[in-house]
Amino acid sequence: MAFPKHAKYVVIGAGIHGLSSAWHLAENLRKSGKGSGRDILVLDKTGIAAGASGIACGVIRNNYFQPAMRRLMQHSVSVWEGDPQAFSYHSVGYMQISPEVMHKDVASIYEQQKAIGYESVFIEGEADSLKYMKGLFDDWHAKGITSVLHEKKGGYANNRASIYGLAKKAENEDVRIMTGVQVTGFERDNSGAVKTVVTDQGGIDCDYVIVGVGPWVKHIWDMLELPKSIDIKGRDGKTHKDVPMWVYWSLQEGTLGVDPKLQRTNDGKMPPVIHVDTDAPLVSDVDGSVITEKLWGIYYKPDFNFGGVQGGAMPYKIQTPVDEVAVDPYGPDSPDFIVGDEFAHMWVSALAFCQKRFHGQMPKYKKEPSGGIGCFTADSFPVFDRFCQNAYFIADSNHGYKMIGVGKLVADDITGNESDLLRPFRFSRFAEGKLHPVSNSPFPWS
Ligand SMILES: Cc1cc2nc3c(=O)[nH]c(=O)nc-3n(C[C@H](O)[C@H](O)[C@H](O)COP(=O)(O)OP(=O)(O)OC[C@H]3O[C@@H](n4cnc5c(N)ncnc54)[C@H](O)[C@@H]3O)c2cc1C
Repeated sequence: MAFPKHAKYVVIGAGIHGLSSAWHLAENLRKSGKGSGRDILVLDKTGIAAGASGIACGVIRNNYFQPAMRRLMQHSVSVWEGDPQAFSYHSVGYMQISPEVMHKDVASIYEQQKAIGYESVFIEGEADSLKYMKGLFDDWHAKGITSVLHEKKGGYANNRASIYGLAKKAENEDVRIMTGVQVTGFERDNSGAVKTVVTDQGGIDCDYVIVGVGPWVKHIWDMLELPKSIDIKGRDGKTHKDVPMWVYWSLQEGTLGVDPKLQRTNDGKMPPVIHVDTDAPLVSDVDGSVITEKLWGIYYKPDFNFGGVQGGAMPYKIQTPVDEVAVDPYGPDSPDFIVGDEFAHMWVSALAFCQKRFHGQMPKYKKEPSGGIGCFTADSFPVFDRFCQNAYFIADSNHGYKMIGVGKLVADDITGNESDLLRPFRFSRFAEGKLHPVSNSPFPWS
């Protein structure tokens, strides 16, 4: 194929957002008679699923303290459910298992799930929580737990398989996907709108750009000379000046190389994804030393794709100045941002803290490189918005593998049908002080 000189819509990034947007935009154009997938070109500097989507744990949940996030996730879960086979989606459910300090937050999540019709069960009190968990796993013995939220929908999907499933849907709509093409800049017209996407293989004139580049979002943001720092009207009513727009966090994940079936429930079924937060002291399963006495959290699920029980723990904020953080080489190839022995020790000890079956399993931890970084916005929530008139950013703040439906909402927005679900994620929220509420979770994404 000759290198294209023009495409009406250029999508940058072949991850969950770029491909979902391309697929849904193509559908919208076809159905409205205003065009087709032939008007859309997806570019990726490496390949399909080369970014965060291809290494994600793949957890899909509704459990968010922020009402706007929950409504968005409810919409995305319906898209996952639309074609579980193509998206390699496992609807096993999801559990948020929490200490007293989070009880009130999670109770409000449950109430609001009821209000929006998202099926879940909420158990309160230490004794009832233990009984409920033992009903699922007879070896459950986690301490410091006073509530259990059991979401009946959601679960997880197999990362690369689902992205290839999306790519197929886009290609079936005649979308072109070109890999090995890196966007290096933009040419703009007098009004500031993008007229040409500059790549390492030539310029492509276009009417519209969709940016779905995950952890690389700051690079594209800088190419368009968007602000490196912003003013935020805080919850205190005061304006906080010059807050950095972007911050990187390092995600901590790994796999225990046991038979995934080890984690079956009492009745022999594949279990829900488990997320546990607690302030009970965490003691090493290896040598009995105290690992932490502060609030901590982990998540895990049996996963044949990863070849064991896979999951993670709290991420950490990267202290290197943002302009100096090396996003490439990405994920397991990074020399800087892969998990080490400390993570393995903490996470496997935490598994044993929750369930007896993980006691003594530390030697089975897979010593392959894992983890990756995410680029978060100033308030750790997504920005879905149009900049420079015709450049639509899907900056998911690393919440986004589960958000397969955002591409549909963005495609609708671009074709003139703005959804209420997107409005709380506009860039103007920072200046207007319309911030999302913050929970007591130890994770920046709950
Ligand atoms: C270890 C880890 C685990 C995670 N687990 C979960 C989870 O369980 N559930 C969940 O919901 N989320 C999870 N996330 C977050 C989630 O993976 C991301 O939010 C999401 O995948 C981002 O999707 P994306 O399409 O925006 O970007 P990506 O999937 O990163 O895709 C971006 C693409 O853009 C391409 N690109 C970048 N720059 C350029 C350029 N200049 N020119 C051309 N192409 C370019 C890249 O090659 C890449 O393929 C996890 C993240 C990490 C790192």
